[in-house]
Amino acid sequence: MLDYVNLEADLTEEERMIQESARDFVESEVRPDIGEHWIEGTFPMDLIPEMGEMGFYAPNLEGYGSPNVSETAYGLLMQELEACDSGLRSMASVQGALVMYPIHAFGSDAQKSEWLPKLGSGEAVGCFGLTEPEHGSNPTAMETYAEAADGGYVLNGSKTWITNSPISDVAIVWARDRSDPETPVRGFLVETDRDGVSTNKIDEKLSLRASITGEIALSDVYVPEENVLPGVTGMKGPLSCLTQARYGIAWGAIGAARDCFETACQYAKDRDQFGGPIGRFQLQQRKLAEMATQITLAQLLAHRLAALKERGDMRPQHVSMAKRNNVRMARDQSRIAREMLGGNGITADYSPMRHMANLETVYTYEGTHDIHTLILGEDLTGFAAYE
Ligand SMILES: Cc1cc2nc3c(=O)[nH]c(=O)nc-3n(C[C@H](O)[C@H](O)[C@H](O)COP(=O)(O)OP(=O)(O)OC[C@H]3O[C@@H](n4cnc5c(N)ncnc54)[C@H](O)[C@@H]3O)c2cc1C
Repeated sequence: MLDYVNLEADLTEEERMIQESARDFVESEVRPDIGEHWIEGTFPMDLIPEMGEMGFYAPNLEGYGSPNVSETAYGLLMQELEACDSGLRSMASVQGALVMYPIHAFGSDAQKSEWLPKLGSGEAVGCFGLTEPEHGSNPTAMETYAEAADGGYVLNGSKTWITNSPISDVAIVWARDRSDPETPVRGFLVETDRDGVSTNKIDEKLSLRASITGEIALSDVYVPEENVLPGVTGMKGPLSCLTQARYGIAWGAIGAARDCFETACQYAKDRDQFGGPIGRFQLQQRKLAEMATQITLAQLLAHRLAALKERGDMRPQHVSMAKRNNVRMARDQSRIAREMLGGNGITADYSPMRHMANLETVYTYEGTHDIHTLILGEDLTGFAAYE
């Protein structure tokens, strides 16, 4: 596997073991059928508990059965999952960084004891409801609201583009608390079998097809007070979760790019035209050289990000730079790899076009490429350019 500047040499025993076991799992359990799932628009549901058993959901958290692995190990895990398919990595990212993380960081002891073990093992599935039909890049303008009622709250509103909502047991719903004069955003744990909750599936996606996406409609949904995340108010809640998930994406996208590179490099050695392998042509070598260089630069950025995160110096803007760069890199390189495969490149027999289509979602969710550009622009100049 491409590791041009031998970053693996600096991994700990545990990190190497996690990388290898994730790679083996993906190769034997997922890769053989992933193309078919992608075409059918299904997620391999039997993998959900298996991934839990393997420790793929938030292994970087501490306690409640989580092994508290290093941030590098967590990043490597995301990389191996996305080398197979962005949908597989999305499953682990949402469950770990967007559902378990906020419960771990902001939940009550009762919420942690009830949900973290079940979510960690894959016995329960969770989703993260922030985006609304009218508010995507600007979730601060969200309209979903909660009103105090009878020892709890009544929720109304709708969320869309929610990964896993149709297969979730619980949704973290971010909503405005109208019983507080400042109407701050609060996080609510909403079991999806509560009266008034519906989670329609969004069909006919042309990207991230091996991942289930849906809506969350909330019509007078009552939740008791103990379902509110007590440890956070305001946009800090959802945004801090996004920082965790974007960290995983910055690593994961490299996996997709690496898989495209490996496929294209092998193809260049195997495919003969004009009396020999296409890999002997300078035009093809230039593409491979560029691909390997861009992947290596992205790997270096991801490793640096892990070091900053580990010692508590990582800022959300650092994550924006890495998410923005590494996803764009993977999106660009998947297209070159597809091109190198000629006609075969447009089939599901090879991974590059599947990655290429998936990366359109990865480029868009968790802050679009444009939004991360604006985050960096503001950090560099002091001027916010969102409005
Ligand atoms: C498959 C999939 C899964 C998803 N999963 C989840 C999930 O689990 N939970 C969740 O809450 N959300 C999820 N999302 C939603 C995702 O985060 C949003 O799609 C994303 O934030 C963009 O919002 P939008 O689609 O409404 O686009 P818009 O915000 O309408 O943006 C449209 C275009 O305008 C640009 N734009 C917007 N504002 C500006 C500006 N100020 N300056 C310049 N350009 C601007 C954007 O970059 C984009 O190109 C998912 C999305 C997809 C596609």
